[in-house]
Amino acid sequence: MEKFAILKEEKNEFQCTVANILFFKGVGLHTGREASVVIRPAKADTGITFVRRDLKPNVIIKANPGSICSTTLRTSIGSAKALPYACISTVEHLMSALWGAGIDNAVIEIDGDEIPAMDGSARVFYEAFYESGIKELSANRKYIEILKPVVITRAPAGGGGDGSGVSIAVYPADDFEVSYAMDFNHPLVRSGSFDMKIDGFNFHKEISKARTFGFLKDVEHLKKSGLALGGSLDNALVLNETSVLNKEGLRYKDEFIRHKVLDLIGDIYLSGYRIKGRVSAKKTGHDMNSKLVKKIWGHVENDKEDVFTRREKETPRPLIVKITVPVQFA
Ligand code: ZN
Repeated sequence: MEKFAILKEEKNEFQCTVANILFFKGVGLHTGREASVVIRPAKADTGITFVRRDLKPNVIIKANPGSICSTTLRTSIGSAKALPYACISTVEHLMSALWGAGIDNAVIEIDGDEIPAMDGSARVFYEAFYESGIKELSANRKYIEILKPVVITRAPAGGGGDGSGVSIAVYPADDFEVSYAMDFNHPLVRSGSFDMKIDGFNFHKEISKARTFGFLKDVEHLKKSGLALGGSLDNALVLNETSVLNKEGLRYKDEFIRHKVLDLIGDIYLSGYRIKGRVSAKKTGHDMNSKLVKKIWGHVENDKEDVFTRREKETPRPLIVKITVPVQFA
């Protein structure tokens, strides 16, 4: 099979973890249940690992596409090894903050089944990571490098294939770039596009503060379906027919599309690695985002052993440096 992506070490970059233990508590956007989260440092090459510590025995869920178990309005990961099925919902905003803060390895313990919504964005997590410090580890960072375009499309209902459907693609690029096009049937979010090279620094300013959003007309139906039970004006932008109900208004003029990009970054990071490539998404949600990461992940998993063996033959860098990047928070 012709390779469209490979796993590669970046020689001049090192993996990171959190320098200190962090603690978050809050209500889940969909379940409405309160949960506490403890984030601990982890060794190089262990990735992001979630632990349901409220279950006995504790259930470990790796943050990778093989764990994705639901993509309805949020991304949930779970472990089929545990009975009853152990799941953690709405991981995407935290995953996005981990990506933005450059954290490759961490253990995330939770005493419930949904990551707290906090303010509905990635800001609280991201700022906490930087304020408490990021620790550089001795192993090189690994990237998924895209060699050839991968395009996944979903035709509009009724077919037609006229390009008006949902699509997601990734193309070769030297950095991580995202373009997103949205189209909702609402005057404030009818259409828009976003296109940017994103790194850990502009993530904070341009993406991290964008809150999740919902439409007032959908709230009753969602709540009947057991979704959005914890949603409020404190953790989501809510739109009526013509305007935003949140008194403080928008944090960005195009906050809605920036939140779609925030979600996309979190979903893409479930590939288990950072990606060097240009992701181009049109009207996607968590379902299509996860289709792309599953495709890429399945492809690069075979490379993993090569990369790890190669690294072990080299002399590891013995130094462990604690770095705290100064970020001005508004
Ligand atoms: Zn979201």
